[in-house]
Amino acid sequence: MKLLQRTITAILPAPMVERMRSETNRWQVRCGACGATQPLWEAGGIRYKKTATASVSATIMACPNCGCLRDAVVERSDG
Ligand SMILES: [Zn+2]
Repeated sequence: MKLLQRTITAILPAPMVERMRSETNRWQVRCGACGATQPLWEAGGIRYKKTATASVSATIMACPNCGCLRDAVVERSDG
């Protein structure tokens, strides 16, 4: 877990952390270079109480597949 996630799971009550984790797990990060995807939670991200109106957003990630640090797309993984 990344620092932000460790901090949040240490501070917040477990049921809230579970909701946050399951909500985050509906999202994935797709590398802009090679197209590899990984679950947003594993990428260190947290998405909570955001609506589907902003269903795609951009971020920067270090891709575990190609190793490059570049723009990536955060998108719903459940369609
Ligand atoms: Zn990549």
